[in-house]
Amino acid sequence: SIYGDYIKSVIRTVPDWPQPGVNFRDITPLLQNSAAFRKLIDSFVHRYQEMDLDAIAAIDARGFIVGAPLAYELGCSFVPVRKKGKLPFKTISETYTLEYGEAEVELHSDAFHEGDRILVVDDLIATGGTMLAAAKLITRSGGQVVETATIVDLPDLGGADRIREAGYSVFAVCS
Ligand code: 5GP
Repeated sequence: SIYGDYIKSVIRTVPDWPQPGVNFRDITPLLQNSAAFRKLIDSFVHRYQEMDLDAIAAIDARGFIVGAPLAYELGCSFVPVRKKGKLPFKTISETYTLEYGEAEVELHSDAFHEGDRILVVDDLIATGGTMLAAAKLITRSGGQVVETATIVDLPDLGGADRIREAGYSVFAVCS
């Protein structure tokens, strides 16, 4: 993407966090740098401004950081996809498998209208499980997933391939 190399240069790798052997990609230096944060949001705006989106579905919690300014700039709805137990109204949920155990994402049942054009956003795709569960949930709720978008894709983990194999498009600002 246009600012991909630059965005990558302001993401920090923290070794052995949250557990030994994991290289955590930390986006906080990117967020602290106002010029970088602007370029990040502009990367998404540039890609999606002509796509006639109805809503941005952003994944709890770092997806919110990208999703809110993007929805504001594109003039479309903001819809939170939350971890289990956080949404107060009637919800639908999707369970997915983690390395150890299960996780669940939820959406309000009235979040979309039938056929709405939705972009799903998160900060990072690792195994792709979170993004894929969110996309499936939106499809089940009647939304049309135009694309799934992330700041960072970790290609060695195959998450983007897995999401594409399930029939969804994937965009990453950097890999
Ligand atoms: P996945 O479901 O693709 O295996 O994991 C992606 C989810 O876990 C995303 O919601 C993301 O926020 C979080 N995540 C996993 N690893 C990292 C990482 O190295 N950096 C960041 N920023 N988030 C991560």
